[in-house]
Amino acid sequence: MVEKEKKIWLEGELVDWDEAKVHVLAHTLHYGLGAFEGIRAYRRENGKTAIFRLREHVQRLYDTCKLIAVNPRFTFEQVCKASVDVVRANKLSEAYVRPLVFIGPGAMGVYAPDNPILTTVMAWRWGAYLGAGALEKGVRTKISAWIRHHPSIALAKGKIMGQYTNSVLAKREARIAGYDEAILMDIQGNICEGSGENLFIVKKGKLITPPLNASILAGITRDTVITLAREESLVVEERHITRDQLYLADEAFFTGTAVEVTPVREVDDRAVGDGAVGPITRRLQERYFDVVKGKDETHPEWLTYV
Ligand code: PMP
Repeated sequence: MVEKEKKIWLEGELVDWDEAKVHVLAHTLHYGLGAFEGIRAYRRENGKTAIFRLREHVQRLYDTCKLIAVNPRFTFEQVCKASVDVVRANKLSEAYVRPLVFIGPGAMGVYAPDNPILTTVMAWRWGAYLGAGALEKGVRTKISAWIRHHPSIALAKGKIMGQYTNSVLAKREARIAGYDEAILMDIQGNICEGSGENLFIVKKGKLITPPLNASILAGITRDTVITLAREESLVVEERHITRDQLYLADEAFFTGTAVEVTPVREVDDRAVGDGAVGPITRRLQERYFDVVKGKDETHPEWLTYV
């Protein structure tokens, strides 16, 4: 459950949490066309709060808007500032920040080119996304019966609300069957990603992750981890992974703003490696937390102080 905070940024103003309402005729509520983001702010070693890779996330929000031909009324800089303002207004030292651009009420047909485009940014406290112990021990996963979007039916590079029905179905299927998370394949049988996170495997010391032309979101954490891995002199290959390659991986882990760097300890009831968190996963997880929480100050360009 999200705990109530004080303020939400809605259409240019900070309004009281309970007043941040939209009408049930909002077009996006009916048809799912809209853009959203998920961003984290961390309290750093120096005691200050910084939003991690804010500008890259807001850029992806605008890229998603471009993909779906929706024009936000607010500028890139205004949404960046709104994200800072909402964290500050709620006095949050750590937060999950969620901007949305959505289509408001007006015409109710599928084609509604003149409806207002509305923007909001909210923030709340959010701990380990896959539950206590996930970061430490890793998670149990199941390859989903649901297939990731084919590029001709959806826009995998967009973080579009309606596309997440696919993620919700896969996640539910996995949870009801007793697993922590789902892994989705494409129609050709390539492994793509989790319901809300990218996937890496380690084989013979090399990191392998599906390429950006797979049906995956271009994860900002994926990019962070690739950058940090190369700094650690690890070889990173972006190429397709099959189900059997995943089963035979030495290590596997998820990356995402919400999951951060979460080890995968099991896939379809098979242990990944020997079932313990592997050394490369642990090293990258530590490096990630050092960078976002400020023990490591090597990437100031990724920080927006609140
Ligand atoms: N894939 C999907 C489907 C996601 O929803 C997310 C979360 N935004 C990710 C990957 C990871 O992206 P990021 O690292 O930018 O949070």
